[in-house]
Amino acid sequence: MSAVPAGSEQPRRPPTELVETPCRSALQRVRGMWFDWSLNPYGGCVHRCTFCYVRAFERRADRPSDARYGRTVRVKTNVVTVLRAELRRPSHQAGLVCLGTATDPYQPAEGRYRLTRGCLETLVAARRPLTLTTRGPLVVRDAALLAEGGAAVSVSISVPTVDEAVVRSTEPGTAPPRQRLRALERLAAAGVRAGVLMAPVLPGISDGDESLAATVRAARDAGAAFLLVGVLNLTPGTREHFLEALAHDWPELLPRYLDLYRGRSHLPAPFVSEVSGRVAGLRLAAGISAERPPRHAQPPAPRQLRLEL
Ligand code: SF4
Repeated sequence: MSAVPAGSEQPRRPPTELVETPCRSALQRVRGMWFDWSLNPYGGCVHRCTFCYVRAFERRADRPSDARYGRTVRVKTNVVTVLRAELRRPSHQAGLVCLGTATDPYQPAEGRYRLTRGCLETLVAARRPLTLTTRGPLVVRDAALLAEGGAAVSVSISVPTVDEAVVRSTEPGTAPPRQRLRALERLAAAGVRAGVLMAPVLPGISDGDESLAATVRAARDAGAAFLLVGVLNLTPGTREHFLEALAHDWPELLPRYLDLYRGRSHLPAPFVSEVSGRVAGLRLAAGISAERPPRHAQPPAPRQLRLEL
């Protein structure tokens, strides 16, 4: 069972400023990861999760990583045009593209700007393998388009826990987990390979047997094709804000966290293995795979290209 947060409710979504910021490049080359390119149509994220690892990137870029994070979202208005030009370059190397590595591609601004949609249309038309991660149920809007990519496309729906009280405290701007799982169900029904990213699991808050089991069960019931798990990392920039929020919502856990993360950003391997092992047992019992999205899957032959590159 999870610990119950002590903090009072905050407004779910304070006003956000959308700043239109044309970009010079769309795809970022990534080394040493399970994907090859990252693509983020927006900068900053209105969901403002207390544990968001992007806070650390923002701090390194000299932008606010504290409570002001997510109050401004940068909108890369020309990202689709830039992406098309990059894919046309003879020097461009193929590989798996991951959307949503540094922002949520289906945060509310996407309803207005449709930049994630434009990037997906471009990538699917170019027959590129792609994967995306989101907490936004708006992804359902693009189910038919994602399904066109066949096995070369996968969607990870982030559901760290189905405990709504924990989610309300740690993810001030997201949709409730049940809405995300409904989105997963609809993607699966449309033929999209969709699964659950159960991250971050929070020590003493969402790592209890009952809490883990409820989340794995909900993933199974929603038809998750895969389930991946990760525990909380606290890199500088994320660490300060998360610990401040923790002191507000779970003050009794602060000494434990200070001890667990003393002098380090990542939890020790035995701790991580213990949590991953328990989730693996539950996942196997539920009959869910842990296979990452395929890196080199071939998209199906195009029935009709949506866009000319
Ligand atoms: S949804 Fe993702 S990118 Fe957005 S604040 Fe939460 S963890 Fe960060």
